[in-house]
Amino acid sequence: MNHSDIRIAFFDTKPYDRKSFDQVNQDFGFSISYLEPRLDSSTASMAENADAVCAFVNGSIDAEAIRKLTERNVKLIALRCAGFNNVDLAAAYGKIDVVRVPSYSPFAIAEYTIGLIQCLNRKIHRAYCRVRENNFTINGFLGYDLRGKTIGIIGTGKIGKAFAEVIQGFGMRVLAYDVYPDPEAAKKFHFEYVPLEQIFRESDIISLHCPLTADNAGLINESSIAMMKDGVMLINTSRGKLIRTKDLIEGLKSGKIGSAGLDVYEEETGYFFEDRSDAAIHDDVLARLMTFPNVLITSHQAFFTEEALASIARTTLQNVEDFFMRGITPNGICSQCSGGKCPRCRKDPKA
Ligand code: NAD
Repeated sequence: MNHSDIRIAFFDTKPYDRKSFDQVNQDFGFSISYLEPRLDSSTASMAENADAVCAFVNGSIDAEAIRKLTERNVKLIALRCAGFNNVDLAAAYGKIDVVRVPSYSPFAIAEYTIGLIQCLNRKIHRAYCRVRENNFTINGFLGYDLRGKTIGIIGTGKIGKAFAEVIQGFGMRVLAYDVYPDPEAAKKFHFEYVPLEQIFRESDIISLHCPLTADNAGLINESSIAMMKDGVMLINTSRGKLIRTKDLIEGLKSGKIGSAGLDVYEEETGYFFEDRSDAAIHDDVLARLMTFPNVLITSHQAFFTEEALASIARTTLQNVEDFFMRGITPNGICSQCSGGKCPRCRKDPKA
């Protein structure tokens, strides 16, 4: 089998995807068909002659989509992202393989997180607009020194660790929580593991870097918010559903939450990554969130650096090559991967 015999139906294509994948594909030579719709049960039939499909974060790869793909003899779902909460792995198990890009540039997200924090703290987003209106006053832009403040990191995997590394220069007290602590990293990057409640109670800034799982959906909710310091800053560059947005809005209205930086949102689909500038927003929760001057929403762009795009393209196409040409899936995931050693991937998900 030659590389050119392998057909990839590439869903949810944006111009920058095409550019990075076409460039990297010069080294592979797969036959890629670029499609605009995202992958879900209503579009899966577009993968008619494909051997593999390539999907992104807002695809919805449920049991019905998987049924349609397997009916068409598609063998592989190649996610071009790290998170896989949008795939029904139980439905995929034994029928179709799923691979992902477990790591591309954790520093892309870590550095972006610093950007959100400082933008919100020093009100740079508002200052930009004010100066453009020839208003050079600084009333309302008072921030605080980060030095000496406490920051809580939830999830110290690749991105959480990269964030702990880049935050070091600010002289903050860094607390962390992870279901699988990494004491070596704590020593190396000078942070302290504490119980989750302590993060909530003592942090001036809380930054989420854990994946979305069945256990932690709505981690930030009315009761966790009640434990937090008045005026806390919340940053979410991970997955929207980690925060119960209606509770966040109540916290913002009461002033309990001082500010929020959100690169992700519970209901991104249909909005994030799309140009909706000539349409009404039908999502009232999103619309309400956008009214707060102390909320900074960006459209899931923390990953968006040249280095990350090139790395995503290379790992995705390498995943396809590994699967079809070598019969292996080093970046495979399956329904067994949620705990212990995975019998299907024969891979420890924590390794
Ligand atoms: P990773 O797998 O390296 O690390 C995740 C860490 O979270 C692990 O150490 C794990 O033990 C921990 N964890 C799991 N459940 C937890 C819980 N309930 N509480 C605390 N910790 C928990 O993943 P990563 O590469 O660091 O990525 C983290 C997340 O960032 C991804 O799952 C994805 O959702 C998100 N992400 C966002 C963007 C973006 O552009 N905004 C880009 C890439 C990744």
